[in-house]
Amino acid sequence: MKIVKTIKVMKETVDELRAQGKSIGFVPTMGYLHEGHLSLVREARKNNDIVVVSIYVNPAQFAPHEDLETYPRNFERDENLCAREGTDYIFYPDDQKMYPERYQTYIRVTEIEKKLCGISRPIFLKGVATVCTKLFNIVKPTHAYFGQKDYQQSLIIKQLVKDLNLDLNIVVCPIVREKDGLAMSSRNEYLSENERKEAVCLYKTWNLGKKMIEEGERNIEKIKKKMKEHIENYAFPKIDYIEIYNAEDLSEFENNAIKEGREIAIALAAMVGKTRLIDNVVFKI
Ligand code: AMP
Repeated sequence: MKIVKTIKVMKETVDELRAQGKSIGFVPTMGYLHEGHLSLVREARKNNDIVVVSIYVNPAQFAPHEDLETYPRNFERDENLCAREGTDYIFYPDDQKMYPERYQTYIRVTEIEKKLCGISRPIFLKGVATVCTKLFNIVKPTHAYFGQKDYQQSLIIKQLVKDLNLDLNIVVCPIVREKDGLAMSSRNEYLSENERKEAVCLYKTWNLGKKMIEEGERNIEKIKKKMKEHIENYAFPKIDYIEIYNAEDLSEFENNAIKEGREIAIALAAMVGKTRLIDNVVFKI
């Protein structure tokens, strides 16, 4: 496994590999890897000649008051995990190379970014869209792997690939969870022991909503109200949003009523103490 720190070397390397007709599976991450990230690496390993993992805590997706400085980092550990999963290259650039002085170009996916995390974190999705476009141009993957954990992000990426006519396939992989149901996340590291116990509330809450729908409830307001009441039973969480949308494009259901035969996304975000957690489920009835 090679560690590549410059854009120039990464580009030269992938140009050569592509010229040899090799497929390149790419997993963009911010590091501090867990089983969720590794499931993407395994999927990439299974289906490509070459696997590239990027590790880059992207400053463009953090607002000034957010956790850029404290975001957990451990490159040595990440390096070992990537090697163990058969990664060929880690792309590990620094801010100077990604956003040199006078950097001024950003990508925005204008409709999808108006919903969910886009409301409380307007900078986040613009930063993600921008860094992923840059990384796609540098790594030139045939396939790029994303987790459903960040569902809105996966829709943003699919949309920009389509709109900008990029030549790669986006593969979205299932959410990997802890034993109690909590979605794995690098930010779970921030949780105190008590907060960690309560963090499962997001999982339990969407389960409640899903169950209501499966048992025949169609009124979205009623379902959201019950979900809200449920999560309020916990001591720590403060809800950012609980939404039920058409999974395809995050549009609203007509007349606030679930429609059978359509993919449904239940998405929620909450602050558990100082830690912002998200979770979702996508299903059909
Ligand atoms: P991050 O390092 O948090 O930016 O995440 C990098 C990639 O890993 C994104 O595509 C995430 O959606 C994905 N990911 C993060 N957590 C999970 C998880 N629990 N299960 C599956 N994929 C995940």
